[in-house]
Amino acid sequence: MSEIQTNTNTEIDYDKESEKILKEFIDELNSVDIGSGAYPQYASTDLKYTAGLQSKRLNEKNADIRYHYMTESAPHGSAVKLDKDTRYITRMPFYIMNSQTEYSVGGRVKKKDKLQKTMYANVIWLIDQNKDESYCCPNCGAVSTVKKLLAGCPYCKTRFIMSDLFPKITNYYDRRAKETINSTVLPFSMLGILIVLVVYGFYSYDTLTTVFTSDDMTQKIIQGILLLGCAVIGFLAGYILKVVANIIYVLLYTIVFLPSLFRLIKTKRKLPEFMRGFEKNFTLDHFIGKLIYLIRTMVYSDNYDNCAVYCGEPTENRCKDIIDMTYFGFVDAKDFYIENDYAYVNMDVRMYTINCKGRHISKKSEVFDLLIYKSIHAENDYGFSIHKIECKNCGSSFDATKEKYCPFCKSGYNLPDYDWVIKEFKRK
Ligand SMILES: [Zn+2]
Ligand SMILES: [Zn+2]
Repeated sequence: MSEIQTNTNTEIDYDKESEKILKEFIDELNSVDIGSGAYPQYASTDLKYTAGLQSKRLNEKNADIRYHYMTESAPHGSAVKLDKDTRYITRMPFYIMNSQTEYSVGGRVKKKDKLQKTMYANVIWLIDQNKDESYCCPNCGAVSTVKKLLAGCPYCKTRFIMSDLFPKITNYYDRRAKETINSTVLPFSMLGILIVLVVYGFYSYDTLTTVFTSDDMTQKIIQGILLLGCAVIGFLAGYILKVVANIIYVLLYTIVFLPSLFRLIKTKRKLPEFMRGFEKNFTLDHFIGKLIYLIRTMVYSDNYDNCAVYCGEPTENRCKDIIDMTYFGFVDAKDFYIENDYAYVNMDVRMYTINCKGRHISKKSEVFDLLIYKSIHAENDYGFSIHKIECKNCGSSFDATKEKYCPFCKSGYNLPDYDWVIKEFKRK
C-alpha cells in the first residue's frame, strides 16, 4: 500500500472507483449492439476479443442480443482485493440487479429472458512507475509499451492518455442470483374465483334461476351474499394454490440441485487449500472468472486450430448453437493434482446457455467439463493477456492469439507456463 501512496498525489478509493467503472461498463452494455461488434470502452483487448468471437457467432445465425440491466438502486460493492501483484491494483466489484435480455433472429424478438443476476468484474490499474510494461494498443491490438503508447502507437499512430489505457476491465461474468419467479397471485386467484363460482352455479342452477326471476328481495340478497362468499373462497383458494405451487417449485429445485450445492461447498473448502500451495493469493471468485473466460473462448471459437488457450487433442467445436451464457452458480472441482510441476484441475461448471437453431431460440441449463493446467511456477500476473506474451528467450512481446512463435527470435512459447490453458473440454 505504501507504494500507492508515495506514487499518487491524490488518494483514490479503489473500491468505490471500481464500482463506478463497472456501472459505466454495464450502462454501455445496455446501449451497445453486441451483434455489430461494438463493446464497452473499459473492456480489455482480450475481453473484446472473446466478445468479437460472440458477435461473429451472432452474425452467422442472423441473431442479436439486447441486454437490459437495471442498475438503478441495485445493491453493489467490491468483493475481492487482489493487491499482492506489485505492478497492478486489482478490484472485483459486483452489482446485484434485475436483468432482461432480448434474443432476436432475423430482426424479430424470439425470447425474453428475465433473471436476477450478479455481475462480477476484474478491474485493474497499472501502478504509475511501470511504464515499461508491455501493453496492446486498444485501437489496433499491436503489442507495445505503455510509455510508447502514451507518445502514440508506433503502428496505427493513435495517441492515448493514461486513462484510455487504464483502468481496464480484464474479465467479467454474470451469475444467476435467483430466478425471478412470476410472483403475481392474480391469475391464480381469478382462476380460483371462476372455478368456485362455476361449481356453485352448477349445483345451485335451479335455485338461482327461480330466486333471480322471482320478486323475493330477501332471497335475492341471500343468494347475492352466497355468490360473493364463493368469490372470496375462490380468491383465497387461488392464493393457497399459488403458495403450494411455489413450495413445490422450491422443493423440486432443492432436490434437483442439492447434490450440486454440496459439491460447491466442498469445492469452496478444498480448492483454495490446494491452490494456495503454489498461488498465495488465490480466490475462487477470480478463478471462476478465468474458467468462464476459457469456456467463452471454447464455445465461440469456430475451430480450435488457432485457439491459443486450447492445448489438447485436436477436436471439433460442439457448441456452435450457443449464442449467450450465464454462470449458474455451481462449480465442482472433481479432481486436482500436481504432475511434473504443472497443476491440473478438473472442473464441472454449470451454465445457462441460450441456443439458436434456425429461427428457434431455447434456454438450457448445462454442464461443461474442463481439464485445465498451468505451471506451478507461473507468475500470478493480473495484467496477464494472451495478446502480450513475453518471449522467455529474448524478452520481446507479441500477440499469442496471432503468432505461435516469437517473431524476433523464432523460439516457441508454452502458454501453460504463463496461465491456465485447456487440455480437455466437454459439453455434457
Ligand atoms: Zn495501434
Ligand atoms: Zn523471442
